[in-house]
Amino acid sequence: MKRIGILGGMSPEATALYYEHITRTYTARHGDFGYPEILIYSVNFQRYVDWQRSGAWHEAARGMVASLESLRRAGASFGLIAANTMHHVFEEVRQAVGMPLVSIVDATIEAIAKAGLQRVGLLGTIFTMRERFFLDGLERAGIEGLVPEPDVQLRMNRIIFEQLCRGETRPESRRLYLEAIAQLEDRGARGIILGCTELPLLISPADSALPLFNTAILHAEKALALAVEDGV
Ligand code: GLU
Repeated sequence: MKRIGILGGMSPEATALYYEHITRTYTARHGDFGYPEILIYSVNFQRYVDWQRSGAWHEAARGMVASLESLRRAGASFGLIAANTMHHVFEEVRQAVGMPLVSIVDATIEAIAKAGLQRVGLLGTIFTMRERFFLDGLERAGIEGLVPEPDVQLRMNRIIFEQLCRGETRPESRRLYLEAIAQLEDRGARGIILGCTELPLLISPADSALPLFNTAILHAEKALALAVEDGV
């Protein structure tokens, strides 16, 4: 069985979902506690928040490479970056790290393609909705990605950093997200990407008539499958 390396702490709330999902799902499926070993490198998140805000993406990439290399040296067989936003520089990081990395964007697109959807809404941080890395990936797979209007994007971004990343969920924030989902549905979206790994704290499948693509869980699920395949 392979050992999973998680670059986490962006935010801790989301990293905990990965850890929980991998261990609990393994036990639910196999009945025992023989889940894959997991190494977590929890970063100083403030440094990444500052790099994102100042557009210092190359610095952020260098920080992630250093942490992922630490995980590799500690014995990780492959790595995950447990945040969508930081996939803006995924290619740069992947090329510099000496172990395979599993992309959250690829894991999500695979699930959407499997569901046969051609138009989906994308929710996440301002960077994930505004930069092209996720939308381009969808486009390459023949899927159209729709994002909310710019003013809504800003409000969503604030909720992620000021509430969700601090473990706080508020009914009015859920309402804002659900209204945005309804608008995306009116524009033709047939599914919604929870393209921020904290969003499952706020929105669950019961809240939405559209299928939700929970990027954190799809990513964790991909890691579990990869770790378990090929046996020991
Ligand atoms: N976890 C987040 C994401 O999935 C947001 C935090 C960050 O900016 O890294 O994009």
